[in-house]
Amino acid sequence: MRRIGIMGGTFNPVHVGHLMLAEWVRDALKLDEVWFIPTGSSYMKDSRDILPGRERLHMVELAIQDNPFFRCLDLEIVREGRTYSYETLEQLRAGYPEDMFYFITGADCLFAIDSWKNPERIFSNCTLAAAGRGDVSLEEMGGKKRELEQKFQMREEIQVIPFLSLSVSSTLIRRRILQGQSIRYLVPDRVISYIEEKGFYREKNDVKEDQKSS
Ligand code: ATP
Ligand code: MG
Repeated sequence: MRRIGIMGGTFNPVHVGHLMLAEWVRDALKLDEVWFIPTGSSYMKDSRDILPGRERLHMVELAIQDNPFFRCLDLEIVREGRTYSYETLEQLRAGYPEDMFYFITGADCLFAIDSWKNPERIFSNCTLAAAGRGDVSLEEMGGKKRELEQKFQMREEIQVIPFLSLSVSSTLIRRRILQGQSIRYLVPDRVISYIEEKGFYREKNDVKEDQKSS
């Protein structure tokens, strides 16, 4: 039985916050691996602003290639239609029935998850590992954890993990590229080279403000 972290996200583009979060939780929960799963067409974000799944996946591959604990899966981007986390977790559970899955999220997702589609089918297939992103206190996260644990059947308690406060986001990265500012050290060098080679995020349309999360 392996302990596997699932790092879902738009990764438009992947940045140091995603990588540090994955490594931090891997260490805290003694996970054997972390699998990055870029979303397909997320129903929560306006897809016009988001690069094609193949490109976001490729940038994640470039970002993680020197970490032997990290892998990247295309199962959401190859799926037809909208992407829902519960489907991904059910697919993983069916494919790897022996393994334990830890769904790694920032604190923002802990507060949003009960409005996602079929949250009970998320909780029945994995353990939530929510990392404090600095914007909410651990007390508030503890309160939300207890509320969710009462509302849903869980395989194991929600793991609330104190994390660093890093205000980097993909929105910030896209805005900086648009404004011609440096993203060095915010994004791995290999990913920066790829973004530059392809000319990504230079158009205004790519960076329309994401109101739902940043
Ligand atoms: P955007 O600005 O486009 O919303 P994002 O930077 O929030 O992008 P996502 O792909 O939406 O990145 O996030 C994927 C996961 O990574 C989420 O669980 C989110 O909470 C987490 N995450 C992103 N940035 C950070 C950060 N700086 N610190 C901790 N967690 C983060
Ligand atoms: Mg976000």
